[in-house]
Amino acid sequence: MEGEYIPTIGLEIHAELKTQTKMFCDSKNDPDEARPNVNVCPVCLAHPGSLPVINREAVRHVLKVGIALKSKLADYTEFDRKNYFYPDLPKGYQLSQYEYPLVSGGELAGVEITRVHLEEDTASSIHDESTGETMVDYNRGGVPLMELVTEPVIHSAEDAGNFARELQLLLRTLGVSNANMEKGEMRVEANVSIAKKGELGTKVEIKNLNSFNAMERAVRYEVERQKKLLDRGEKVVQQTLGWDDAKQATFPQRVKEGSADYRYFPDPDLPSLKLSELADFASDILEKEMPELPWERRARYEALGVKADDAGSFVREPYLGELFESSVQAFGAGDKGVLLAANYIANDLVSIMTALTKQSRDIDVRDTEIKSEIPISAENFNKIIQLVRDGKISSRTAKDLLSVYAKGEQSDPEQYVAANNLLQADMSDKLVDVVSAVLTKNPTVVADYKSGKAAALEFLFGQCMRELRGAANPASLREALQQELANL
Ligand code: ADP
Ligand code: MG
Repeated sequence: MEGEYIPTIGLEIHAELKTQTKMFCDSKNDPDEARPNVNVCPVCLAHPGSLPVINREAVRHVLKVGIALKSKLADYTEFDRKNYFYPDLPKGYQLSQYEYPLVSGGELAGVEITRVHLEEDTASSIHDESTGETMVDYNRGGVPLMELVTEPVIHSAEDAGNFARELQLLLRTLGVSNANMEKGEMRVEANVSIAKKGELGTKVEIKNLNSFNAMERAVRYEVERQKKLLDRGEKVVQQTLGWDDAKQATFPQRVKEGSADYRYFPDPDLPSLKLSELADFASDILEKEMPELPWERRARYEALGVKADDAGSFVREPYLGELFESSVQAFGAGDKGVLLAANYIANDLVSIMTALTKQSRDIDVRDTEIKSEIPISAENFNKIIQLVRDGKISSRTAKDLLSVYAKGEQSDPEQYVAANNLLQADMSDKLVDVVSAVLTKNPTVVADYKSGKAAALEFLFGQCMRELRGAANPASLREALQQELANL
């Protein structure tokens, strides 16, 4: 039996949109406001007689997401009331979109998109453990919220994670959401089922997923739990589960409502929109505002010869990406400096920065963003790359320089290199001095070499390189060494 089941996952992802004001009123949309209940007004507090107005910035944000996903943008759209009672929802209904989402279809990271629609966020409930009281902060109530739904076509926890990461990157690139999962700016719900090939099993929905890792672990856990149930001849109950990160297990939250329970109907206070009649939303205008998308940028870097993994980190990590972009500008496509820069950023600078931000190597770097700025100016970095590209310094010296500059050295790299005798071209005299000193110090090894022991040369070479702190061009050093030995 085991191994015959195929997992199926469909994701529902909410993202708080970055806008000046809330979805249906002019209260400020400020996720960083610490004081409770300051960004509120009669509309988002649902005072009788107040009327909502659609936020055009939020509509434009969702349409841009649709353009990036190559989806169908709605022509006709409307907002519906989703009725349910809870203190975080002062109107007694949430304004959402049911029949006519702004965006339908499309694809991201190989996953088909069902729809993307616009709705409003609920207020935040704050539970006070000591008093047992719950307080409500309406600052978040009415903030524009985008919901993206995928088709049930994902078949592994890893692919689900990749999809969610790619969406986060897209939202950030478009500037439509900060999409920080820890802050709840992006919330992922995973629907999970298992079935024999060609069938679709009963699904559960998992909530409370606060990170990509938590989502992947929850999906894996749930697939195993469902396998065990089916193997015992039991059934999966359709329900909503929570993820307990401390226990690393899912737990039942509630039996799922059907959509009939929400009594959706079009909101009579809001106009329906006919987008083709509204110049603001014309797709050719929006398209002109589209930035380079993550997959386009990765493809551009790979076309420059950058390894796929490195291109991925440059696009994911803004600091690395900015620096690499400055090298592309400085050297130009096709120049050896571009690939040298890519390697020094992806290897040397990343380890320097990893140490600086005290991230452990075990941490999944995809989840932890390198938060510190690169401690070296783009100008100095590119000068160091130029020196190594032109053969003026060795790669050993380049690595050393990066550490020195990361620790705060500010001087011009060319001057620094000259002042510290690190230029390979200036080294010929120094090479000869060091070589003769090493030969004088090691008469027995020299004798071994003369009697034909090849290993003796390697030892002497190593000694010289050590004296030179690795700064020598290996070929020049070898030549100088053989020259001096022949002269003896
Ligand atoms: P519901 O009516 O329960 O809300 P939907 O059909 O609207 O279900 O789908 C909601 C989410 O669940 C979508 O992301 C969809 O891809 C996913 N989904 C639907 N059926 C399954 C299934 N059998 N297994 C896994 N995910 C599913
Ligand atoms: Mg549904």
